Amino acid sequence: MIDKINLRVQYPGGPSITIDTGIIQKLNCPVLLDHSEIPNAERLIPLTRGADITDKLPASGLKWRFTPGYYRRSADALNTALNKVAVYAPWKAFDPGPDYPIDVRFAAMPGLTKKDIRDHFPKGMLPPDMDINRGLSDGEIELVDTSGTTEEKITNIWNQKWWDASERSSWRFNSGFDRIVYGEHREALLVNPRSTGFISDDADLPMDKRRLSRFLYLNEKTDPATWTKDLMTRMVNELAIFQPDILEVNPSLLARLCRFISANNLTVFQPSVIVLTYEYTTRIEYRQIRKAFLSPMISSYGTTETGYVFTECEAGRLHQNSDFCRVDFQPFKREYGGPRTGRILVTPFDNPWCYFIRFDAGDIVTLEEGGSCPCGRDSGIILSSINGRKANLTLTTDGRPVTLAEVDEATAGPAGVEQYKLIQKDSFNYELHLVSRIREKGQLVLDAQKALKGLYGMDAVVDVCFDDDFPPEISGKSLISRALFPIDLDSYLEE
Ligand SMILES: [Zn+2]
Repeated sequence: MIDKINLRVQYPGGPSITIDTGIIQKLNCPVLLDHSEIPNAERLIPLTRGADITDKLPASGLKWRFTPGYYRRSADALNTALNKVAVYAPWKAFDPGPDYPIDVRFAAMPGLTKKDIRDHFPKGMLPPDMDINRGLSDGEIELVDTSGTTEEKITNIWNQKWWDASERSSWRFNSGFDRIVYGEHREALLVNPRSTGFISDDADLPMDKRRLSRFLYLNEKTDPATWTKDLMTRMVNELAIFQPDILEVNPSLLARLCRFISANNLTVFQPSVIVLTYEYTTRIEYRQIRKAFLSPMISSYGTTETGYVFTECEAGRLHQNSDFCRVDFQPFKREYGGPRTGRILVTPFDNPWCYFIRFDAGDIVTLEEGGSCPCGRDSGIILSSINGRKANLTLTTDGRPVTLAEVDEATAGPAGVEQYKLIQKDSFNYELHLVSRIREKGQLVLDAQKALKGLYGMDAVVDVCFDDDFPPEISGKSLISRALFPIDLDSYLEE
């Protein structure tokens, strides 16, 4: 035992704690925890005197507050998964054991991939006593297919009751929701019907065929490039008739409608809040939406698999919905953009039909510097930004990964751009596709090339081409940046 030691230690995504008693432990990864904050700390093992562990800490240097319930739910989720759910049987070999703090046990686990889910669904993803047929016949659950390519596509069990509870909990992170009564609110959705809603690419559906309880789906077309003036006028009119409390949107679709609204000087009904979800919102899209709407815009990050994970507050930061999910953060190595930027892995809590441990939805985030938010909410992880997805990554000419957020910052400058798409063809060749209505495009090309060379390297070759419009990806979401070759994210992350 050590008499006295003062160390401030940080576990990625976990608490930062000052150790000042002898009740500490040495672990096979660099984490120290004291017994006042960790439930089973009375079983800790003493640290070897003099062991220098501080150098090994990945240390984003940030402190997050979690309730005791957060650790209990984390432990419940992991113990149930390891002991009862078949897909996790091989993971037991990674578990240091129940004597270890839960953060350490989670850190030792791999991430659950969509392939794991596809290979084991449904039986291998549930405890043996959960009967999927009973759940389906009782109406407690339904099966939903997520959109996307074969690689991305999976079948999930949809538990509406749990989903609603997760959504309701996410509302406490933004006062924009305060005046809306959950469950009684009217909600209009401007989303790709491949994600949710009704698909009808040939015939236009009348408004009553696009209603579902308190929801109105404004769009039934899978390709927004086919929207006609009449269809967009219809959307504006229906907003005025339906008067939704919430307008939930793919930002790329709302930006498209807003370009039409601005070009025609239309006035549009202002909902209490606009929820931006499903895809990254570019700076250009944000500006286009702001021209038509004064409503508060709230970014909501989640997935069909994990429910509501992060919600934007009034101060523009994103707060973890920590009553409903655990988030583990894996920073990039320092030389690749860490340690505040990295990948998140999500573990939903207390959904009897879902046992996902460290689900990798492929999203990259940046932690809020300083670890606190001006809004004062202090439970869970706080992000300064969500930076796009793994699928959006590109590389500089000297091999550093570049997130969509960085591309977006570089591309936001040149005036006259309506939409853009950045494709990296190989190590040195980049193709920037622009949609622009301005006539004289010479300066635009020079500005864009300069900005992207600043980002990717002066030896980058940047071709700028102009398109009339972009069709959506198979997923129905816009894919604003990507490389045409595989990028192994894991090789850029801290071990
Ligand atoms: Zn905040």
